[in-house]
Amino acid sequence: MQVLLIEDDVSLAQGLQTSLKREGFSVNHLREGKSALSSVATSEPDIVILDLGLPDMDGNEVLRQIRKNHSELPVLILTARNTIEDKVTGLDNGADDYLAKPFEIDELLARLRVLERRLSSLKHADLTVGDVSIDTRAQQVRVAGIDVDFSRREYMLLKMLLENVGRVQTRDSLESKLYSWGEEIASNAIEVHIHHLRKKLPEQFIKTVRGVGYTIKPQ
Ligand code: CA
Repeated sequence: MQVLLIEDDVSLAQGLQTSLKREGFSVNHLREGKSALSSVATSEPDIVILDLGLPDMDGNEVLRQIRKNHSELPVLILTARNTIEDKVTGLDNGADDYLAKPFEIDELLARLRVLERRLSSLKHADLTVGDVSIDTRAQQVRVAGIDVDFSRREYMLLKMLLENVGRVQTRDSLESKLYSWGEEIASNAIEVHIHHLRKKLPEQFIKTVRGVGYTIKPQ
């Protein structure tokens, strides 16, 4: 389990590194937000521990940047800012947990273990119906045991249908989840994606519910 520790207090960081390593985490420590952001992109940590008061940018901005590309990366904020407003802001920006300094190392370790457990259940979050399965962690679709490439929107669409097996998804609801507000959408966009999806899936896997939308039947 690779932890990225973003903390400008060097002596605190050193103590944390020692404790985390003793617990079996591998730790990469950086003192600044910008270098941490590039490290998130290149070294793909499993968990981030994020201080808010950083020398070059605010930790909340670091968090917002992380969330743009890494929606599922667990982030624990570890900070001296301890008001309710601070906590709400951090959590609303996408933190998974928030621990105020001063803190007990045992509590931090326990919280990291919670994030670790959540991560490993996510890693095994496979959705399977009949011959079709998706690995939601790797965002990989497999049909009859063979990896098949899907565009991002095709993948999202298939995932939404698989998560709602047996329920009809209306075109409007699929559209609203697939596209951002204000994005230009062709009136037949969903039909076109479904058409492409069907070419890659077993016959009759996605059923059309005339005038309403689409569904995948349990198998
Ligand atoms: Ca700091």
